[in-house]
Amino acid sequence: MKGAVDSSSYVINSSCAMLRLFTLIFLFSFASLSVVAQDRMKPEDTEVWEPVPPVVTPGDYVGPLAPPSDAIILFDGTDLDEWASTRTRGEAGWSVHDGVMSVVQSAGGIHTRRMFKDYQLHLEWRVPEGVQGSGQSRGNSGLFMAWDLSRGQGYELQILDSYQNDTYVNGMAGATYKQSIPLVNPMRPPGDWQTYDVIWRAPRFSEGGEFLEPARVTAFFNGILIQDNIEMEGETYYIGEPEYHPFDEAPIHLQAHGDPGPTLSFRNIWIRPLD
Ligand code: MG
Repeated sequence: MKGAVDSSSYVINSSCAMLRLFTLIFLFSFASLSVVAQDRMKPEDTEVWEPVPPVVTPGDYVGPLAPPSDAIILFDGTDLDEWASTRTRGEAGWSVHDGVMSVVQSAGGIHTRRMFKDYQLHLEWRVPEGVQGSGQSRGNSGLFMAWDLSRGQGYELQILDSYQNDTYVNGMAGATYKQSIPLVNPMRPPGDWQTYDVIWRAPRFSEGGEFLEPARVTAFFNGILIQDNIEMEGETYYIGEPEYHPFDEAPIHLQAHGDPGPTLSFRNIWIRPLD
């Protein structure tokens, strides 16, 4: 009787071992397939179209939120001294007029000359009245909360005209691009000012560059919570799955997307480092 029990448990144990072996083989093949797949992915593969966040009408805009005494002013309407051209690293090349700065498409994106780690950021942006295009080509810019200058990649909180403009919801205004869908859609119409208030917690890496902790984002859009301490999956890509690449401090980057027609404007940008 004992022998029979031993023999059946041997069969069970060896079946379990085989199962574990097959699982490992399967996982390894899947891992290598996914590496290949990343190269062959199309932009549509990482688009999510549902659920569509509910539209919420924000309260009336009552004027720019004046920076607190300990803030670093990144733009107060007078000059672009705190910013550089991401393409040339020289003068930012965007236009400053009427207390705002506007994207100049030919100049490309811009970034802060200062580097940051964790921070609270306030930024106001405006999609121009008479904006043209549709979907992702309508008032597209982006607040890259950290930007890798050498690799030209970063972590984007999407800026887009999401007022009656359908697109994939993980790419609408307030989305961490192709990652976290905003909780609601509080977008004002083109021509009105929009506000972002962001708390960015940079990802952590060891001194050797080993990944330790993901980046975290809390964001308010026109005063309404749209990202609630979400964990980022890595840099935000147009094509492919997010990945982490080690960095310590990084500049903040604003995107020039190249959409048709009049361009976006920004004003009243200030930051409070938290680290
Ligand atoms: Mg964008």
